[in-house]
Amino acid sequence: MKKKRRTRSNNFARILFILILCALPVILGKVLWDTMRPAPAEEADLRPAAARAGYFHALVKVEGVSADRLERYNAYYRAGFGLSMDEAVELVNWDVDILCPNGPDERIFELAQDKFFVGRNLSRYLAIYDGNSQNVRAVVEKVNASRDRIAYADIEPTDLSKGIMVLVNKYHYLDSSYVPDDLVSAASQYCQYSSAKLRRPAYEAFVKMAEDARAAGYIIKINSGYRSYSTQRSMYNNYVAGHGKAEADTFSARPGFSEHQTGLAIDMSTPGVGYWSFGDSAAGKWVHANAHRYGFILRYIEDKTDITGYIYECMHFRYVGVDAATVIHENGITYEDYYEKYVK
Ligand SMILES: [Zn+2]
Repeated sequence: MKKKRRTRSNNFARILFILILCALPVILGKVLWDTMRPAPAEEADLRPAAARAGYFHALVKVEGVSADRLERYNAYYRAGFGLSMDEAVELVNWDVDILCPNGPDERIFELAQDKFFVGRNLSRYLAIYDGNSQNVRAVVEKVNASRDRIAYADIEPTDLSKGIMVLVNKYHYLDSSYVPDDLVSAASQYCQYSSAKLRRPAYEAFVKMAEDARAAGYIIKINSGYRSYSTQRSMYNNYVAGHGKAEADTFSARPGFSEHQTGLAIDMSTPGVGYWSFGDSAAGKWVHANAHRYGFILRYIEDKTDITGYIYECMHFRYVGVDAATVIHENGITYEDYYEKYVK
């Protein structure tokens, strides 16, 4: 029994030895191959790429992510400022990683509380924000209205693709050749003088408002609607001749910078009441309270003359549609605030 067992175990050792002998070249070959073959270039980055992939996978679920900013989100998120992924995305979208490479400034979070804060204006807000949180609204409002720029100097052609939401002010102008393509002549009963033209949507809204006003006992008319570039030029030049340029600029727009050239603005009037007294008349008060329901806003409001750059114009209304007019009326803001936040 003993001898037989020994023989069997010898056989087993022999077979094992032969097997190892056969496998050895294969194992050695594999080791040599792994050591000597050149590593593919992309393998060098494999580990960081995998880490990024995990981050990016989570990132695509965050709102407002832009593909060309992925590396910047990643870098700011991992910079050790304790930001959540959503915060990192939002701040980078506002270029805070460039403005504040050492971590976001407390002032940014204060400014962002404002209802009409717009991220792309952040560097301009910061340039005039003194850090007193009482002033946040004034800062946002001022920049949104371009009042940190020089009127009639820092100018740009307005974006006509915005249609009835077009912005015209002392920083955004219309070409001298611009004439709206849907001007209609107002029926004579709506005109204070012999005629007036408006863009069709503004005219239709005005007619509806004038009819409702009439039903309520008030007569409202169009004192002035669309004005061409050349008409505005003559008017402005007359005002400059009579009042001097500085004063004329407070109540009359330079040619190309007038909302009347859009065909969407109306100076309203009521019979027997002077141009500048419309707002105090019963008809004017009705219009001030109701115009937004028809899509009109009082454009140059009393407590925002520093923001609009115009004195209070109780008769000048601008058509922007009912939705925008309602938001603007209810918040007591200028059209510039609305435009920056929702239209631009
Ligand atoms: Zn006007």
